[in-house]
Amino acid sequence: MTESSQTALNRAGIQSSFDVNALRAQFPILKKRVRGNPFVYLDNAATTQKPQSVIDVLNQYYTDQNANIHRGIHYLSEQATEAYEDARSRISKFINVPSERQIIFVRGTTEGINLIAQTFGRQRVRSGDEILISTLEHHSNIVPWQLLAEAQGANIKVIPIDDRGVLDLDAYGKLLNDRTRIVALSHVSNAIGTVSPIAEMCREAHQRDIPVIVDGAQSAPHMKVDMQALDCDFFVFSGHKIFGPTGTGVLYGKDKWLRDMPPYEGGGGMIQSVTFEKTRFLEYPARFEAGTPHIAGSIGFAAALDFVEEIGMEKIAAYEHGILQYATEQFSQIDGLKILGTAPEKAAVLSFILDDVHPHDISTFLDQDGIAIRAGHHCAQPLMNRFGVAGTARASFSIYNTREEVDVLAASLRKIVRFFKR
Ligand code: PLP
Repeated sequence: MTESSQTALNRAGIQSSFDVNALRAQFPILKKRVRGNPFVYLDNAATTQKPQSVIDVLNQYYTDQNANIHRGIHYLSEQATEAYEDARSRISKFINVPSERQIIFVRGTTEGINLIAQTFGRQRVRSGDEILISTLEHHSNIVPWQLLAEAQGANIKVIPIDDRGVLDLDAYGKLLNDRTRIVALSHVSNAIGTVSPIAEMCREAHQRDIPVIVDGAQSAPHMKVDMQALDCDFFVFSGHKIFGPTGTGVLYGKDKWLRDMPPYEGGGGMIQSVTFEKTRFLEYPARFEAGTPHIAGSIGFAAALDFVEEIGMEKIAAYEHGILQYATEQFSQIDGLKILGTAPEKAAVLSFILDDVHPHDISTFLDQDGIAIRAGHHCAQPLMNRFGVAGTARASFSIYNTREEVDVLAASLRKIVRFFKR
């Protein structure tokens, strides 16, 4: 870490006991130059970059271990099965799950939520029932519930937010009623960074015996998530947002729900016996893992969690919080820039608009300086509507981002302001 960023950290009251430059060196892609500039990657909420350790594990798997799992009675198949099941076990420990069997491999958060909606949801939701979500949701935690509601004749209800982007908990309490059959909430908003009080909201729903499904896509990469402490009924997150490969993710569920849920997809790997008259299914997790899964990816996912644990989630959260504070201060000094989402509990996401400049233009201009951010509705159109905008520009930070990069971003934004003022 350079002296100036260490000083800034100290000023913010956050000591960093890891060397961010040494950490950056573990991410080969960060050495890239983009359009002649050092690469500044600030699109981490979309996907994170991958450390060498994860790249090596994938390489090693295909070089030395590749075979199909579970069904093969030969050396490599046994090795691959062992590595795959070991990944399941490491992931279960990462989120403090009572039994590794409660971890089901999926392609990502989107598939996990669809799986729950089409199995658990179909079992549970009937005509006239209500599914309660919030204004903060990503489309992945809206559309699967709409599909279910339409199929079953149920209704979607929505928890409102205030102007800071914080959930209205009084309204939540009032929306919970005898018709509510499912509550589905994002832990952290991808678009504006709000962290919602999930444990408290689970307690309230459970008083009425309503299960809570948590979209953890943006929380698991940035804070300690503990299934026993949150006590949610289901939790889903994606590997690629926490330094792992794309096409990976997990779904955690409580045993009392998983054991009676019907399969999502049918095929090999999930059956006990098949005749043309009747198929018997395996217990979970196999029941929900039809076909050949992303074996290498899941092993890479576990390696990504090892990487996180080596640094320590508390350190990651504190460091990213420091970056967020610093970037918020810098942004407050830019003419015409308005931050959307000012919740007191926030993850390291800065969504903003800049006077009359279209977010896509902001992103295009920044790209000329080698800076990658995201612009648009962030798959959260209802949330954008709530703020009366079509979209925002969004910088989202990770453990390898530095204050120098924030300075580069702020300088580039000032250039855009000057350009449009001409
Ligand atoms: N939920 C949230 C809050 C997200 O940020 C995302 C991705 O951006 C998703 C769900 C969907 O994740 P995936 O595309 O990995 O399935």
